[in-house]
Amino acid sequence: MDKESKENRKDDDLTEEKQNVSSKSSNVDDSEVEKIRRYLAAKLSVGLTGLGCEQRTQRSGESQQTTLREVSLDGIVEYIKEKADCKIITMAGAGISTSAGIPDFRSPSSGLYYKLDKYNLPHPQAIFELDFFMKNPEPFFTLAKELLPEGFKPTISHYFIRLLWEKGLLLRHYTQNIDTLERVAGLPSDKLVEAHGTFHTGHCLKCRAPYTLTWMKEQITKGIIPKCEECDEGVVKPDIVFFGEVLPERFQELADQDFVQADLLIIMGSSLVVQPFASLVDRVQTTCPRLLINNKKVGMQDRLSRFLGLRQGLVFDAKSAHGGRDVAWLGDCDTGCQLLADKLGWGDELRALIQKEYDSLKADDKSDN
Ligand SMILES: [Zn+2]
Repeated sequence: MDKESKENRKDDDLTEEKQNVSSKSSNVDDSEVEKIRRYLAAKLSVGLTGLGCEQRTQRSGESQQTTLREVSLDGIVEYIKEKADCKIITMAGAGISTSAGIPDFRSPSSGLYYKLDKYNLPHPQAIFELDFFMKNPEPFFTLAKELLPEGFKPTISHYFIRLLWEKGLLLRHYTQNIDTLERVAGLPSDKLVEAHGTFHTGHCLKCRAPYTLTWMKEQITKGIIPKCEECDEGVVKPDIVFFGEVLPERFQELADQDFVQADLLIIMGSSLVVQPFASLVDRVQTTCPRLLINNKKVGMQDRLSRFLGLRQGLVFDAKSAHGGRDVAWLGDCDTGCQLLADKLGWGDELRALIQKEYDSLKADDKSDN
């Protein structure tokens, strides 16, 4: 459809809406506001996912219709129990790994950065910038030595995600974490999207030869900068996404197909500030409930998108026009996940799974030594 006829159609829609409202006194003001709203929405090219969608649903009264009987954790539990083939997407950030002892390395206050003093970095984030890395990979590998997934155990949250998979409810898990703990927890790689890459594999920056974590780990823990054995020249960089690098293709491809078909979105331990990961929450259907398990409310709709009537961000106010489907459970992720499992009647199963997995990790450690 060409842009003009789309605009005309919107105009018709608006006239129709205004007539329905039939408030004579405020018509002028309303239409001015509407005009600005429409203009901005068009400029931001939100199309059907934004303004258009809202108009459709508002006319049919769907925006008041909620899929949750109760906007609470209990409401979510009931929703999962009633939907035998519930397709759940989980999204996670650093918060699911902090109880494993993994430091939040992107934060300059994490204490890791004092080790980098001697390198005179232009700014702390430079170690994750590709240009800087090409010139001087040493600071990155110094930090990597501290961060290498060595001896870290997955958390209750990781095993909760695995349990969702075992029950056939997990459509996909999207993680911002590069610590590979989802893999250690036994989540199969086809269910996993590592949005910011992973330490699990690496590549030579010169000839693209692939390398395993085991190989890289050996070099890094010895304090050697991993050099490619194929071309003898390139530095081997773990496949984590640096600033200025594009996200893995897998992320884009799967996000496009997954989010539209999800029945429930669970977001855990992410501050929802890093894009494009953060805006994934807006890609589910407008009727799809979203549960946030985090120590504080994040990713909320801002004033501009509220003004524009855009469905962007989480709306925890059940009474708002776009509310009624977003639930925030505040606290640490492990407590939240265990509670959710308990309420679903899977509590003991989750505890048993963790016990079994920890025992086998311990046995692996022993056989390694
Ligand atoms: Zn090479």
